[in-house]
Amino acid sequence: MTNMTQIMPFTAAGLDYAEDRRTIESLKRFLNDPAAQTVLLKDGKPAMREDGSLWMIHPDELKGVNVLQPAPVLLGIKDKSPIFAFSVHESQTLIPEDAFQEMRFIAGRMNVEELAIAGRARSLFEWHHKHQFCSNCGQKVMSAAGGMYSHCGACQTDHFPRVNPVVIMLVLRGDRCLLGRSPGWPEGAYSALAGFISPGESMEEACMRETLEETGISVTDVKYVFSQPWPFPSQLMMGLTCHTKDEKITLNRNELEAANWFSKDTVRAVFNKESDAFLRPPRFTIAHHLLKNWIEH
Ligand SMILES: [Zn+2]
Repeated sequence: MTNMTQIMPFTAAGLDYAEDRRTIESLKRFLNDPAAQTVLLKDGKPAMREDGSLWMIHPDELKGVNVLQPAPVLLGIKDKSPIFAFSVHESQTLIPEDAFQEMRFIAGRMNVEELAIAGRARSLFEWHHKHQFCSNCGQKVMSAAGGMYSHCGACQTDHFPRVNPVVIMLVLRGDRCLLGRSPGWPEGAYSALAGFISPGESMEEACMRETLEETGISVTDVKYVFSQPWPFPSQLMMGLTCHTKDEKITLNRNELEAANWFSKDTVRAVFNKESDAFLRPPRFTIAHHLLKNWIEH
């Protein structure tokens, strides 16, 4: 039941990455374009206005502001406007300190396009920040092509931002689904099981292995539904459904604090705010959409 028309949170930024227009001359021209805009981040937190929109300014306004490497990062071109992202130093005074907000707390209030733009910026900066040295020879690398990748001048290796694939699955048994909770989650919160794909493993195998490891449940009939980029820091969440005949949960306490079966009626009631049987995953998560998709079909 792949649903290509459904827009997942952190997608649909509407950006043309302009991969063929990222020379130094092009970047300079884009920076000087009167229509250019830049997102500002501090420690991965985007600057937000009180109305919940991204606080975007023209890159010119950053003159004299202490910006961190890599700079500039060109996220892409949107409606003929070059969209940049800059990471600013904590001492900058251009924008009030409290405008920089943790994305997880504000994602639910942001519009789709701006959420995707901020997510792309956050993932790119996180990757550049954590990959300042060449993994081939250990020398310092330089950002290239407006932050699209980095280059090691010592050994001539290019390094590309990494995306980590994760499977997230709705395990179904008749009209019930299996949800779990991890330690530290808000009280009552349950969500779909998830896990990183290991080298040498398909999506289907990862889904079967993770479900078995976490809950002792054997699943079959793994189907892809939709996917979502997750910028904390840079995962690709691949949403799946799968089926089981098993009922008995054997909890792996190293992975989960609890796991339970929930009927479609219960999940529907929770989504309709008619029940507080559990706290549903937030709207900006793929788990929310997997569950919503399930109860609506
Ligand atoms: Zn190198």
